Amino acid sequence: MQTRLLNLLVCPICKGPLDHWRPPAQERQELVCHADRLAFPVRDGIPVMLESEARAISGEPTASAFPDSRLDDHADPA
Ligand SMILES: [Zn+2]
Repeated sequence: MQTRLLNLLVCPICKGPLDHWRPPAQERQELVCHADRLAFPVRDGIPVMLESEARAISGEPTASAFPDSRLDDHADPA
């Protein structure tokens, strides 16, 4: 099981637990180390546990990873 595999993973930097983060609306998955504020990508179900591949996050991952990109309201929605 992929979930079981992910549960065994720890942060390669601090060896701390990783938060398996999978936004429901996104294909992309990430493994987040809150201590280091890094998000490691999961590509095709395979975690990429490389610091060079990790994405720096700030604060809550949901807030920084998917900023609200609402459209301008200039156009008439109808
Ligand atoms: Zn860490």
